[in-house]
Amino acid sequence: MSKQRRFLFFGAHPDDADLLFGGTSIKLARAGHAVKFVSVCNGDCGHYSMSSPDLAKRRYLETQASAKIAGLTEYEVLPISDCSLECNLANRETIIRIIRRFQPDVVISHRACDYHADHRNTGQLVMDAAYLVKVPLYCADTPIAPKNPVFAYSYDRFVDPRPLRPDAAVEIDSVLETKLAMVQCHQSQFFEWLPWDKGFKDFDQNKMTAAEKRQWIMEQWGTRFQAAADLGRQTLIETYGEKAGKKIKYAEVFELSPYGANVSIEEFRQLFQP
Ligand SMILES: [Zn+2]
Repeated sequence: MSKQRRFLFFGAHPDDADLLFGGTSIKLARAGHAVKFVSVCNGDCGHYSMSSPDLAKRRYLETQASAKIAGLTEYEVLPISDCSLECNLANRETIIRIIRRFQPDVVISHRACDYHADHRNTGQLVMDAAYLVKVPLYCADTPIAPKNPVFAYSYDRFVDPRPLRPDAAVEIDSVLETKLAMVQCHQSQFFEWLPWDKGFKDFDQNKMTAAEKRQWIMEQWGTRFQAAADLGRQTLIETYGEKAGKKIKYAEVFELSPYGANVSIEEFRQLFQP
């Protein structure tokens, strides 16, 4: 394993990577590893009153604020409208070129059983790339990397056809406040669109204190960080030891995809540890 590792997360929307990989990214970046987020869609449908072009601009700025907090190498947003992402050749080639140029050790994305069409198609495009990324005559203008990356799936709560297998688990209790600061950069989402989408039509972030905002995020999304820890409990115990592993409250978990570079579960776990 090279000393500095490179991580590339493809989320469907500007905020998915923050939620699913933010805590791990903070730890990895602090340890000197390179972490890049890509939002495959530009976020231009996630609001109830803004225009799509204005929203896309706002959401791009939100990604850059979050990237700064995490110490990311880059947070790239592709110019594809929300709810319109297709598994087509042009998008496949875009994903492959990004992977080849960044030369990651690990590529992470959604599973193809996720709830949103953009999440499913992002996961499909990324996993389609897992083999094609090392075929030199495909997208021949962008040379293949010397080494094929490991591919992984990030946490989701879906159980059909089966729950995510937590092959690797990273505790995020120690970086929770920084992860919450990243999440809160996406103001248009967590304090406007998502409350509205959940039925809180009169939600007004301007009337909230910082403590109330933090509480709202933890009530609505903290449960997912907790569910990920519970799902990955055995892996947390194996990674951090019995006593510490049982105490961990919040985690991010990852499943090894069989489509990329072949590594053992032990090697896979080590990749995510700073
Ligand atoms: Zn999303």
